[in-house]
Amino acid sequence: MIKAVKGTKDIFGEDVLRLQRVEEIIRRTCRHFGFNEMRTPVFEETALFVRGVGEGTDIVQKEMYTFQTKGEKSITLRPEGTAPVVRAFIEHGIYSQPQPTKIYYIIPCFRYEQPQAGRQRQFHQFGTEILGVSSPIADAEIISIGHHIIQSLGVKGVKLYINNLGTRESRAVYLKVLAAYFAEHEDKLCKICNDRLSTNTLRILDCKVPSCKEVADGAPSILDSMDDDGREYFDKLKSILTTMGIPFEVNDRIVRGLDYYTRTVFEFISDSIGAQSTICGGGRYDNMIAELGGPDMSGIGFGMGIERLLMAMDTSTVNIDAAADIFIGFIGDKGMYEAQGLTYRLRSQGIHAESDAGERSVKAQLKYANKLGARFSTIIGDDEASSRVLKVKNMDTGETTAVAFDDIDSFLHKGD
Ligand code: ATP
Ligand code: MG
Repeated sequence: MIKAVKGTKDIFGEDVLRLQRVEEIIRRTCRHFGFNEMRTPVFEETALFVRGVGEGTDIVQKEMYTFQTKGEKSITLRPEGTAPVVRAFIEHGIYSQPQPTKIYYIIPCFRYEQPQAGRQRQFHQFGTEILGVSSPIADAEIISIGHHIIQSLGVKGVKLYINNLGTRESRAVYLKVLAAYFAEHEDKLCKICNDRLSTNTLRILDCKVPSCKEVADGAPSILDSMDDDGREYFDKLKSILTTMGIPFEVNDRIVRGLDYYTRTVFEFISDSIGAQSTICGGGRYDNMIAELGGPDMSGIGFGMGIERLLMAMDTSTVNIDAAADIFIGFIGDKGMYEAQGLTYRLRSQGIHAESDAGERSVKAQLKYANKLGARFSTIIGDDEASSRVLKVKNMDTGETTAVAFDDIDSFLHKGD
């Protein structure tokens, strides 16, 4: 038997209804916040992610699904959403319009990782980006939409942590200080962190291995090597968030895994979903647009893991009512034709009508009506077909009402 590939999931039944509901709330909120959707292809040239996400990152080093197509360039299944949006921003000259450009997307992403709770090989991200402006106002706007969505989905126990990584220049100064510090404690670092000493020193700060954590705790803070400009920028962001009434905590250990981040970085972390606790992570990228061949413009965005969001929220509060309005069963040929005609007519009028597609016994049909949770049911036989009057049963109360064929839609609309 062929099964779904490791780390992938089929989504169906109530789960897909919950997912659709969450997506609806996200899309509605994006409209209110002025973000437009962008749909980019599922695969891109590999070079886009190598350059956009960064050579030294976990994503590029170990997690990409990369393959060669016939006679074509190397192709990679999208591991994240920012680099493709930036590519499109440049490719279509969107940067030459008045800025900012506010984009959102809900997309499947692919990463070759060890599957576990909250970690899949195909997962879904909701992402937002504000491109073309560089100000803490845009940073606060991005953070505020993330905060609002988490709140409106009723996700409890989530904290927002913010940090500032400085500009590329000020970060270079800090990285030297940090590398010198970690070199002194090399023997206490895990093997991966030993490699990171030369490739991605910053990442050692968020290693989960206890001995690394201990060393990282004593490391100098990036906030201490921030220049005046950086401090002013960070203070402004904090003040705007305070004005908006969004609670946050400054955490100088939030560094994010991606090379392209500068200045603001942030994470929303849940206290209820175990080890994979980061629901949303994001930050500013001052260099990526230019690095991918565009103008010297800046952007900020986040990626929110939809599966982790669903894990952290109380899904019992999500309205997933998909019950049919009426089940229209039948006996005999005449009844069958009448039932199909009526079902189609009601559906065309926006009423969720169901009939039996299996030509089964009345008993089997009513069993199916129960599974559908239909609010009303009726059976059409020869009598009903000629009298043009239906006996409609309220499935909750058992009460039966006689309703003319032509009045059935207004009967069902009553109480709407
Ligand atoms: P992590 O530290 O958990 O690996 P990350 O830093 O790789 O996360 P990002 O690249 O910032 O994550 O992606 C944004 C969000 O997407 C994460 O915060 C998480 O909610 C979700 N996410 C990332 N990788 C996976 C995955 N393999 N399965 C499910 N969700 C994921
Ligand atoms: Mg990761």
